[in-house]
Amino acid sequence: MFDTHCHLTGDRYKGGIAPVLEEARSAGLTGMLAVAVDVADAAAARDLAQAHSDVWFSAGVHPSEAGRDHAVEDLLAISDHPKCVAWGEMGLDGHWPDPPLAAQRDLFVKQLNQIQSADVAGARPLPVILHSRKAVEEVLDIIAGTTIDSGRFVFHCFTEGPACVEKVLAFGAAVSFTGVVTYRNAADVAAASDLVPLDRLMVETDSPYLTPEPHRGTRPNRPANVIHVARFLASRRGLSDEAFEEATDETARRIFGIG
Ligand SMILES: [Zn+2]
Repeated sequence: MFDTHCHLTGDRYKGGIAPVLEEARSAGLTGMLAVAVDVADAAAARDLAQAHSDVWFSAGVHPSEAGRDHAVEDLLAISDHPKCVAWGEMGLDGHWPDPPLAAQRDLFVKQLNQIQSADVAGARPLPVILHSRKAVEEVLDIIAGTTIDSGRFVFHCFTEGPACVEKVLAFGAAVSFTGVVTYRNAADVAAASDLVPLDRLMVETDSPYLTPEPHRGTRPNRPANVIHVARFLASRRGLSDEAFEEATDETARRIFGIG
């Protein structure tokens, strides 16, 4: 079982990261993807991945960081590492009024342009982890205008309903779900998850946020809790935990090459 999206750097965990990783291993996790939210964080995630054989990392700047300067070009050097398995997270967040969407869009497009240039220059064609909240249509519009293959995009922490996931699937992207899908007030998200074929479905925690049921409300969330997201989705599909885990692990391995 992999946690395909978590934030493990900095001082997010009071007791340090070692017990968090140990707990994940004891729960049966064989891999965790430490996702970056800005350039310094990408370097920190790289260092963590270098120190632990079961941690991988991504390089990107989160839309909530828009509106201030980022040396986005530094992501190129950081990503030139065997354990960098994705760009991101990047995208658009329409939930909060700040930073303004125009600034988010600039930051997102800048990173997509850089990925396209890296592709042309012969870099590994890494997948792109998308943060898209109340902005799926616009994100789809923007990525459809790139030369990046649609199968390389992952809509992380999907929190929209069935009509929206259908558009994402028609586009050709993969989708991953967090603890949000387990929440009682998120029935539309659960209904959306039913539509995603197993070869494009992944699970994640987005730790330290979004603790899944039955531990909702406990903070911080930790990668070990990804098993609760997986169990919830497995039971909705009438699959055994083992069969679901095998299928989604295979998807994560194909898309990110982790494990
Ligand atoms: Zn995240």
